[in-house]
Amino acid sequence: MRQGKFIVFDLDGVIFRDHYLLRLSRNQGLYSYLRTYHLCILFDLGRLSIERVLEEVYKALRGTSLNTLWKVYKEMTLIAGIKEVIQKLKERGHTVAIISSGVPDFLVRDLAFKLGADMGFGIDVGFSGDSLSGTVGGDLSTSTGKAALIKELTRQRDIGWEEVVVIADDPNNISIMEQAGLSIGVNAGLLVRKKADYLIDGKDLRELLNYIDGGEVADQKREFLQELRRKLVHIWAGAVPFFANVAFSPTVIFLTLLLVLYALSELGRLNGRPVPLFGSVTTACMRIDERRSLVTGPITMALGVIMSLLLFPAHVALVVIWILAFADSAATIVGKVWKGRPLPYNRSKSVVGTLAFFLVACFCSFLCLSPIPALSVALVSSFLESLPLRDDNISLPLGSGIVLMFLGA
Ligand SMILES: [Mg+2]
Repeated sequence: MRQGKFIVFDLDGVIFRDHYLLRLSRNQGLYSYLRTYHLCILFDLGRLSIERVLEEVYKALRGTSLNTLWKVYKEMTLIAGIKEVIQKLKERGHTVAIISSGVPDFLVRDLAFKLGADMGFGIDVGFSGDSLSGTVGGDLSTSTGKAALIKELTRQRDIGWEEVVVIADDPNNISIMEQAGLSIGVNAGLLVRKKADYLIDGKDLRELLNYIDGGEVADQKREFLQELRRKLVHIWAGAVPFFANVAFSPTVIFLTLLLVLYALSELGRLNGRPVPLFGSVTTACMRIDERRSLVTGPITMALGVIMSLLLFPAHVALVVIWILAFADSAATIVGKVWKGRPLPYNRSKSVVGTLAFFLVACFCSFLCLSPIPALSVALVSSFLESLPLRDDNISLPLGSGIVLMFLGA
């Protein structure tokens, strides 16, 4: 009989939305929490070994009672869908292991049992009486521990590393991810993000099932919905000139604030710390190939809008922001639905998409301008949009705005 795959889940940051040691430290007060947080960041950046982090953190946790260990464990939030995912994986004939280099062994075993996994392994922690003695041990408390354990477990099953799937978020798993046949990053930090075959961001793990057997299922409907959501965000920009008309400075300040918050949320996502709300919006709109790097579209979009408001008279800003908001969206959606013949000088854009852009741009410009400037700006912006630029959110409104200024519109 053919054996299924050996699927290894990291615990902290993957099954647990948070880190167990961080929660445990928070129980001890703010200073302890901040110190552990700092150590975790150094670890995530690859600056500190797992041995050092565990030693320092557990030393500080000396005296914590067994009751507290259980209490904090029971309060941990689990990623949505984990039980269902494990159940489905087992139905498909795979073996599921939860392996942690941070959480005490007895807790990981308990969780594995509750979630229906085949096995769970954690680190050994020392006790004096009913409280932590501050010492840690066991193979998993070393940086080579996970690899050694998986090697032994797969040897027993007579399967090789190519049958191993690793699902993880932090650099302690990089060496096993490199050896495994498949690796998946979940809300991963930058180092894991670069290595993983697939990436999942967000609060729900069910997407994982698409990646385990036979690679990614191309999901055209999901891609189309993503594109539609992106464009809805775009279309909102069309309302900005009205707000600016009512209250100019507050609108500019609000947009700038939004831009900064978005940039921070993106940095959080790339480091495996998704920001609530903002983070979920970005994740819902992101294309699969964007998950490894900073998504700059919204930043350039906000910059394009802010610069248009600051540089051009109100009616010019209105036209160029509308073109950016509406014509660009129309071009993308029409281009996606009809596809059709590509432009001769830019194969990634279609004739029909550019035509849709031009028509919507005309609609926006003729509403506010006299015929000659209106037609000119529609032509110029359609040309700018059709160029093979990676991002036209700034060049499009600024280029069109400058042309209108020249025409004395
Ligand atoms: Mg982890």
